[in-house]
Amino acid sequence: MKIINHFLDIIHLKDIPEEGLNLVFDEKKVIEDVELVSNIKGETFFEKVREDIILKGEFVTDIHLNCDRCLEDFAFHIDDNFFYTLLHREKKDENEETEPDILYFDGNNINFLDIIHEQIILQIPLKTVCKEDCKGICPGCGKNLNIEECSCDKKDDNIFFEKLINLKK
Ligand SMILES: [Zn+2]
Ligand SMILES: [Zn+2]
Repeated sequence: MKIINHFLDIIHLKDIPEEGLNLVFDEKKVIEDVELVSNIKGETFFEKVREDIILKGEFVTDIHLNCDRCLEDFAFHIDDNFFYTLLHREKKDENEETEPDILYFDGNNINFLDIIHEQIILQIPLKTVCKEDCKGICPGCGKNLNIEECSCDKKDDNIFFEKLINLKK
């Protein structure tokens, strides 16, 4: 097994020996549309099976996200593992449905950075909240209710109770 101790954005097929390639990495990367706040740390195995490549890997990192409720920035932890079969795009039958565990590559290069980018995007939840019990922003005064309390709700409650009392009169 050949071991390379750094991240490779592009992997040339000839870099993958018969016995396989093991990439081990722990570095800061620049990834499109994603702001990383820590290194990408992990490892990936590339194994040649005839003309296909079997890809097996795992990594951790942290990215910047905005909370949907309070709109504050927070670091979101990503802990991912993946398993794919890489096929040359020429072998793709257009009528064939794309299977989720199959990826295609062009020419003699595998864009590993793209694969990691995709994996990160897949991990971002549809709804992003900084914490389960984030109190969000008060629609009345715009204060971040995680940091400070506001008196809007109380006022509303008072009005509500006053109305109830008036109704009962
Ligand atoms: Zn929040
Ligand atoms: Zn308020």
